[in-house]
Amino acid sequence: MNKRDYYEVLGVSKTASKEEIKKAYRKLSKMYHPDLNKEADASDKFQEVTEAYEVLSDEQKREQYDQFGHQDPNQGFGGFGGGGADGFGFDDIFSSFFGGGGRRRDPNAPRKGDDLQYSMPIDFMDAVFGKEEEISLQKEEECGTCDGSGAKPGTKTKTCPHCQGSGEQNVAQDTPFGRMVNRRACPHCSGSGQIIEEKCTTCSGRGKVVKNKKIKVTIPAGVDDGQQLRVTGQGGPGVNGGPPGDLYVVFRVRPHKQFQRDGDDIYLTLTITFPQAALGDEVEVPTVSGKVKLKIPAGTQSGAKFRLRGKGVKNVHGYGTGDQHITVQVNTPSKLNEKQKQLLREFAEVSGDIPDEQGSSMFEKIKRTIKGE
Ligand SMILES: [Zn+2]
Ligand SMILES: [Zn+2]
Repeated sequence: MNKRDYYEVLGVSKTASKEEIKKAYRKLSKMYHPDLNKEADASDKFQEVTEAYEVLSDEQKREQYDQFGHQDPNQGFGGFGGGGADGFGFDDIFSSFFGGGGRRRDPNAPRKGDDLQYSMPIDFMDAVFGKEEEISLQKEEECGTCDGSGAKPGTKTKTCPHCQGSGEQNVAQDTPFGRMVNRRACPHCSGSGQIIEEKCTTCSGRGKVVKNKKIKVTIPAGVDDGQQLRVTGQGGPGVNGGPPGDLYVVFRVRPHKQFQRDGDDIYLTLTITFPQAALGDEVEVPTVSGKVKLKIPAGTQSGAKFRLRGKGVKNVHGYGTGDQHITVQVNTPSKLNEKQKQLLREFAEVSGDIPDEQGSSMFEKIKRTIKGE
């Protein structure tokens, strides 16, 4: 994999400031956002830009990247449910163990938005062949009026005087064991470290608005029930100018009235008549990709199994195609007219099994013979 340099992706110099990086990201993410850009490679470019920003906007990750480049294993992305910059790292453990001792986190550092999950019911055949569908969901988006700052455009935010911008307060408490100092989120700025002088009227200072969004989802051909797809950048909005989270679409495949599926294989029960089973026949069998002819050999028993190679589901990762398995069920007629009954009796007679008018079976006749009746 030939990954482009993150600075090159964002079009900034190696010494670019946080602001420059943020500005470049804003411009590019708008340019390539799949909602706005309908070109085929827009989504890939959007992903590339988002990934570059995820690293370069985070001081620690940027430092690592500058040192190790793409090779560093800690730069891995795309884990499921990962909280990005907000993940549970060493810092968190340290500060929860040692109270005031841990390294403080900058409340104004850009953070990636939350990942979201969406359960999407899809039709059996759409899972087999893939499809493009639009889903509609309510989600939080960065407020367009204030670009997520929460401040009315033209007004400024100021550093919170109560916590000096740290977003935290130390609360001293006298206990029988001595004086304890606890740290809590600053109530004056809700832990943000910033105070908004005049709130944005669109979002009431929250920086986010709830919108009904339509998102195009490409159902991959061969996807199975419970599998999920990541849609980059369609999760919750980023914090402090961080990139948005991702959306995980979990596919729920509706059952089919004829076919059953296990992995890439399809299972079908085929009902045939007694004459077809006894004499053999060529029948048409439905498969996911249309009807095919199947030869039923003479003397086929109920429960016999046949396999149609390559008539199953094309593997979602491109590893071949599954088979279709057929289980034969021989149908015993439940309603017979006089002529049919007569013919069956004659058939039974020449077969050596002669039921009498009471319908007693050969087994009962044998019993009677043994008893000498
Ligand atoms: Zn706003
Ligand atoms: Zn404060």
